[in-house]
Amino acid sequence: MAATATEPRRASVLGVPVDVCPDVLAAAVALWRRGGGQIVTLNAEMTMAARSDPALGAAIASAALVIPDGAGVVWALGRQGLRVRRSPGIELAWALLAQAASQGWRVALVGASPAVMDQLVARLRQELPGLQLVFSAHGYQSPDSWPALGQQLLAASPDLVLVALGVPRQETWIQRLPGRRGGLWMGVGGSFDVWAGVKKRAPTWMGALQIEWLYRLLQEPSRWRRMLALPSFACAVMKER
Ligand code: UDP
Repeated sequence: MAATATEPRRASVLGVPVDVCPDVLAAAVALWRRGGGQIVTLNAEMTMAARSDPALGAAIASAALVIPDGAGVVWALGRQGLRVRRSPGIELAWALLAQAASQGWRVALVGASPAVMDQLVARLRQELPGLQLVFSAHGYQSPDSWPALGQQLLAASPDLVLVALGVPRQETWIQRLPGRRGGLWMGVGGSFDVWAGVKKRAPTWMGALQIEWLYRLLQEPSRWRRMLALPSFACAVMKER
């Protein structure tokens, strides 16, 4: 079955599900209309992590929408004859904030450092003045305050929740929130840091050459160990029939 703008077609890369759809924003809005769910943005590093971390694997498998965010995943789908455009999660998340501002959606933000959260809230107030921000919490709370925070968040009945706690924690935290109902729930990694101006995205030419990973490595050398997953991903995809 071919994918339509609002009905993605589910494929998989190394056994990890990923949705093929021509317009991720339209698919996300359609999901919100159907009652919401979890959105995962999948890249090569996460695909490898999901294979060795059952909790992350389960969160991705139960997500309502998994978008291909990463040149590696797009390349792996291409080897199956599926032509897909890369959909950076940070771009979908910003487009959803703009949608929220224009449609009166209730928005919640969770994660990043207290300073980043403050800067982000200030920036959103300036750039999206109509945005209804109903809940925000930074990501460095004491461990025992998370259950109450989750309850407060659910009580705010958000339409859109962006969670920046890093992979895999943001995906598993969303999946395990008891009593989660409507709304879109999306892990956004370092997006809050970028929006707050603390981190930079790779320049467009690096994206075009598919070497954004190199930029991230130069900006955060401590990521080298995580990035060893990339050559393993390429080998596993080439071995996959
Ligand atoms: N973070 C957080 N609480 C923590 C650990 C991390 O809120 O206990 C935030 C961190 O400040 C950053 C985001 O999670 O804003 C993770 O960003 P990263 O680029 O590392 O995401 P990933 O590559 O894992 O998707």
